Amino acid sequence: MLKQRAPLDRAIPSRLLLGLLFSSGVAILAHRRRSLSKSGVAGAMISGTTIFGMGGWSWGLSLIYFFVSSSLLSHFKEREKAATAADKFDKGSERDILQAAANGGMATLLSLAYGLTRSPQAKRVLKAGFVGALATANADTWATEIGVLSKQAPRLITTGKPVAPGTSGGITALGTGASMLGALTLGLFFWLCQGLRRSLLSLPLVALLSGIVGSLFDSLLGATVQAMYFCPACQKETEKRLHSCGTPTQFLRGLPWMNNDTVNFLATACGSLTGIVGAWACPALCFLFPNIRERRGRGKPTPLR
Ligand SMILES: [Zn+2]
Repeated sequence: MLKQRAPLDRAIPSRLLLGLLFSSGVAILAHRRRSLSKSGVAGAMISGTTIFGMGGWSWGLSLIYFFVSSSLLSHFKEREKAATAADKFDKGSERDILQAAANGGMATLLSLAYGLTRSPQAKRVLKAGFVGALATANADTWATEIGVLSKQAPRLITTGKPVAPGTSGGITALGTGASMLGALTLGLFFWLCQGLRRSLLSLPLVALLSGIVGSLFDSLLGATVQAMYFCPACQKETEKRLHSCGTPTQFLRGLPWMNNDTVNFLATACGSLTGIVGAWACPALCFLFPNIRERRGRGKPTPLR
């Protein structure tokens, strides 16, 4: 039996152009609002153009949902956060290209594969992977930005010991709740953009599951192998090589190359894998067999979105 293949989506070139215009607009606005550095603008434009062009409207809008909600949350109660956890975080609220790649790189690669593959089965699985990756990125950001406001001290995910706010691998009830909400709302938003199709009803669940697994993995890496440094002047632990006080820090533990960006990238990869495995292994749950029959007329292909 011949494998069914849909033709390549002909709308891709024009969508790429539209994506470029759209993402440069959003990125420049974010740069003015000090949510993105100059290199971050470039990163956001690459991700935005690829995701919008290869995936389509719902993919591009979901990226914007992630981006806008994270930026708003990072400016939310900024002063309170600066007081509690400024030394711990590696960078300020202005995101650079490495952070953009860490959070959106996996989703960008999956959208590229989605746009280039011609197999409907592969498209469905890649879509679940994309939702899983973006749900994890959203979950992590929400957890960090909201969790740091927790009145209770975070506990290390591995040992349960109380740690200072902002410590990698430390979790709070507030942060965990925020991460689940971040993942679920991303899934719901994507589903909404896909026209609330009944066949895709399980997408929000896939997002929630992927977000939970990806975030747990993120915290686990943070608590075990992420590089941590020590400031001799302030006698404090930090993710930074150069402390906010200006003192060069000493390497304390973890793998030297495992910085926050690496951890985030691996976590989104884990989240996307969860989405893919979910979509592949439990078709009943995960929309593997939607009752959409793609019309495969020779003249007018129905673009899969
Ligand atoms: Zn210091």
